[in-house]
Amino acid sequence: MINPASRTKSIELSLIRKMFEVTNPDAINLGIGEPDFNVPENIKIAMKKSIDENDTHYTSNKGNIELREEIVKKFKKDNGINTNPENIIVTVGASEALFMCAQAFIEKGDEVLLPDPSFLSYEACVKLAEGTIVPVDCTMQNEFKLKADDVQEKITSKTKAIVLNSPSNPTGAVMEKEDIRAIADLSMDNDFLIISDEIYEKIIYDKKHYSPAKYSDNVITLNGFSKTYAMTGLRIGYLTANEFNTEQLLKIHQYNIACANTTAQKGAYEALTGPQDEVNKMVSEFQRRRDLIVRRLNEMGYETVNAEGAFYVFPKIEDKDFVLKAAKAGVITVPGVAFGLNGENHVRMSYANSYENIEKAMDILEERVVNG
Ligand code: PMP
Repeated sequence: MINPASRTKSIELSLIRKMFEVTNPDAINLGIGEPDFNVPENIKIAMKKSIDENDTHYTSNKGNIELREEIVKKFKKDNGINTNPENIIVTVGASEALFMCAQAFIEKGDEVLLPDPSFLSYEACVKLAEGTIVPVDCTMQNEFKLKADDVQEKITSKTKAIVLNSPSNPTGAVMEKEDIRAIADLSMDNDFLIISDEIYEKIIYDKKHYSPAKYSDNVITLNGFSKTYAMTGLRIGYLTANEFNTEQLLKIHQYNIACANTTAQKGAYEALTGPQDEVNKMVSEFQRRRDLIVRRLNEMGYETVNAEGAFYVFPKIEDKDFVLKAAKAGVITVPGVAFGLNGENHVRMSYANSYENIEKAMDILEERVVNG
């Protein structure tokens, strides 16, 4: 056996993925983090056409220029961010963008503030870059929203970056504008980077999404097509940063993957320029399911914040065996502690599953786990 590098040994494979591999395929899966919808037809057609036209060569490292121009327009329109095609990189999902940020900017001795709880990849990316994680509490009392005052308390001379994720995986929390603005100011005053993961920006109910890049130059804004356009397997995302930071990020991207998949880039172009009806339909359906799952969990006696975005709820469930009992009864969920210490006594449930399946899953939990 060859000894792996210590940074590789410092992380584990995702427990969530492992769990799916071992559980009953007939179980209702409320563990998964991807939309149950399919890629909209117009996007499929655009991709098929690009293959038929032999548009299957490398694009520029930063990505197809027409796509980057559309991404610039999107940032302006949706986020109030002024950027240009040279400061956009099209990536292999937001996942690659996260990894690039960590590799380009984090090194031994650097402290990185992470919301606790937060998406598993943040911790892994920081550890692979040999950085030190500093958790910032997101409590149920604050509806799991990251607060600027709590961030301020954790800033030291070693603070290199913070990751923001609104709406949040795993809690569905949407940050308040004043906190985003205050953290943006802190990043300028204290010279640290904000890595803003905005992948769930469109999956938001009765709230407005705000981007910190509108208020600070020290921000790398990440986004992608996986959630909004149900394009998970196509692996396509993007980022924008200032000119200097984009150049650093490009070094990692260029020598790792050269460019994102050309066909998926064509699909992404169609996603941005084509009709948005499918997105709107999907978001209304998610909201209907959110209302259902929150109501049913509350009726079962599990305190649940009325998550304002993404497609997760994070009820308080103190029964340590809940996830196991639920899995045995036929409902897959994820223990909250997988996302950080504040996730203890919580369970993440994704409602990226059909309304009928969520109803069935809630019936099973009620009959066989709560009253069982
Ligand atoms: N960020 C968050 C918060 C996520 O939940 C996910 C997917 N689960 C990603 C990034 C990665 O998305 P992708 O690589 O598919 O764009």
